[in-house]
Amino acid sequence: MLKEKDLVVNFQDTRTAFEYKSNAELKKAYWLFKMMMNPKLVEMGSSLGLKAIRWGLPFTQTIVKKTIFEQFCGGTSLTETQKTINQLYEYKTLTILDFGAEAKETQADFNRTMSETLKAIDFGAMNLSVPVVSAKITGMARFALLEKIQRGDELIDKEKKEWKDALERIDVVCHHAKDKKVGIFFDAEESWIQDTIDGVVNSMMEKYNTGKVYVYNTYQMYRHDRLDYLIKSHEHALANGYKLGAKLVRGAYMEKERQRAEEKGYPSPIQPDKQATDTDFNSALQYCIEHYETISSCNATHNEFSSYFQAELIEQLGVPKNHPNINFCQLYGMSDHITFNLAKTGFNAAKYVPYGSVKDVVPYLIRRAQENSSVTGEMGRELSLVRREKARRRI
Ligand SMILES: Cc1cc2nc3c(=O)[nH]c(=O)nc-3n(C[C@H](O)[C@H](O)[C@H](O)COP(=O)(O)OP(=O)(O)OC[C@H]3O[C@@H](n4cnc5c(N)ncnc54)[C@H](O)[C@@H]3O)c2cc1C
Repeated sequence: MLKEKDLVVNFQDTRTAFEYKSNAELKKAYWLFKMMMNPKLVEMGSSLGLKAIRWGLPFTQTIVKKTIFEQFCGGTSLTETQKTINQLYEYKTLTILDFGAEAKETQADFNRTMSETLKAIDFGAMNLSVPVVSAKITGMARFALLEKIQRGDELIDKEKKEWKDALERIDVVCHHAKDKKVGIFFDAEESWIQDTIDGVVNSMMEKYNTGKVYVYNTYQMYRHDRLDYLIKSHEHALANGYKLGAKLVRGAYMEKERQRAEEKGYPSPIQPDKQATDTDFNSALQYCIEHYETISSCNATHNEFSSYFQAELIEQLGVPKNHPNINFCQLYGMSDHITFNLAKTGFNAAKYVPYGSVKDVVPYLIRRAQENSSVTGEMGRELSLVRREKARRRI
């Protein structure tokens, strides 16, 4: 058994994890996580809360804002988020800005997402601690169109124009990112649109990552073909004179992926079990660290082992801990014991900080509550960490 002093980083240190929270804030987090452990309450809150906010019922926005929003979001606007960014930076933690609006369908929505992303890039350029902003291709292009392109169906003239506009939006955003020296992460989404996303993001990497990495694709290791795809993408980058940007995740749409494959009768793209996902995820981390001079990577996980594994690997290989091409990231409001302990030990640790109006981010908040509303989920761990810190502070 390793002694504390021999650890590369100590995730058991709850003092460091919650140093940024006052006693009152810690008690509030405890109360909130406890409420979220009740699946019935979460289910009821999700459907009622969403409707109440859509209908504009009085006080609902304020209640949501003062509770779950404060836990998981940076603010309703970029200006409001500045306070969160500054606070994170006090604890050596970087911010990845994530404009929270989701599931948009109209050209006006897509243009709005584009202009919000451009504003976030400008904001990042003015903040030393905001090296990257995050975006979704489905925030700038219609899902059904991406799917149609992936199927190889012929587009009608109107759709051709729509696709040209979408590509232009994406190019404008990537161009601006490079211009302002701010990175841009493109999220990975459902496998039936991911080939289209990969095609676009790869072409952006080829265009903008010729010196430093500005554009990043996301690789979901719960897919059994992605480790191989990551390596092939890297080889393609080397052969074509650009660098790879790789955000590594396990993947967020497992149930949906499996269900669709079964319904439509094609082999599931998902790994046979969790162990297989974990093995590929950790191999992908290792591959990126071993090639850190030509891959800029982000280990986006709440998994303690995977976070420790990367930290240890960096030490073993003697790579500079804070090399800009090697990063760790967790969602704001979760796994503080990982982020703040990594940051304190000198690694590049960041929080994904969503921001936007309460109405816009509600679907994101519901997902955070739902994915964690069981004792086996992350929230069980969150609650026990907060409880331990409360006991340590004797409050
Ligand atoms: C900063 C950040 C950015 C993210 N961006 C994206 C993104 O762009 N796209 C995206 O899809 N997700 C994204 N995610 C979510 C991510 O994919 C995971 O769903 C989430 O982080 C949980 O995985 P984990 O590595 O944190 O932890 P763990 O709790 O160790 O892993 C849980 C994950 O393992 C996989 N898994 C669980 N059971 C099985 C099983 N039986 N068989 C196979 N695999 C299994 C699933 O992917 C599940 O989500 C992001 C997460 C973070 C922290």
